[in-house]
Amino acid sequence: RITFDKVEKSYGSVQVLPPLDLTLNDGEFTVLVGPSGCGKSTTLRILAGLETLSGGEIYFDDRPIGSLEPKERDIAMVFQDYALYPHMNIARNMSFALRLERRPKAEIDSEVTRVAEMLNIAHLLDRKPAELSGGQRQRVAMGRALVRDAGTFLFDEPLSNLDAKLRARMRTELAEMRDTIDKNMVYVTHDQVEAMTLGDRIVVMNAGEIQQQGTAEELFSDPVNRFVAGFIGSPT
Ligand code: ATP
Ligand code: MG
Repeated sequence: RITFDKVEKSYGSVQVLPPLDLTLNDGEFTVLVGPSGCGKSTTLRILAGLETLSGGEIYFDDRPIGSLEPKERDIAMVFQDYALYPHMNIARNMSFALRLERRPKAEIDSEVTRVAEMLNIAHLLDRKPAELSGGQRQRVAMGRALVRDAGTFLFDEPLSNLDAKLRARMRTELAEMRDTIDKNMVYVTHDQVEAMTLGDRIVVMNAGEIQQQGTAEELFSDPVNRFVAGFIGSPT
């Protein structure tokens, strides 16, 4: 279980997250939705340790982790802007974390191959990121996280650049991951269908504040305010 206890984030005098309380239960697929700029990526980056806390604390079970380094947090993250290493080919981008962990080469190769096939990028392993399309890069960014054996996976709009057919296929793969592996997953999306079909629990944010959280059915049938109703009910 991961608990945000009055987590705050400010950049200079601008407060992006007012004190935020949020609990992520073990094995749960949590979807964060909300308008552009509401603080979704900031929430993930704080959890991953890529931004410092301006206030409050984050706990893994009862252990405070707010001052741990990113690599000490057992988290794999898929970045919204991909953040691929331009000088490394796709295979090396995907295996980067595993190589740091000094895993055996055969194990690394088979894991990279497995995930690359799942994401339909196995034919691109020798290329550099600059030689790929946006959607292909996005799948590499996802692959780089999925090869890892982390307890928590954070996804920041991982399917936003894919065409409808690929997106539907990836949604199915993600749903299968959700159902077969017992990980914490936090998933940010603008896509209402993605949120509704993937989320065990959906958290609706606006301007850094949680408006409502619940299952898709709860939010759909009993929205607490017009913002939630509009956001959940509106087509993307
Ligand atoms: P989107 O859906 O567009 O990705 P988001 O919900 O992920 O939006 P964040 O990236 O978390 O939004 O940003 C939240 C707010 O924090 C925005 O108003 C943004 O301008 C601001 N912000 C983010 N990073 C910084 C920074 N390094 N310095 C100053 N302000 C920042
Ligand atoms: Mg974002």
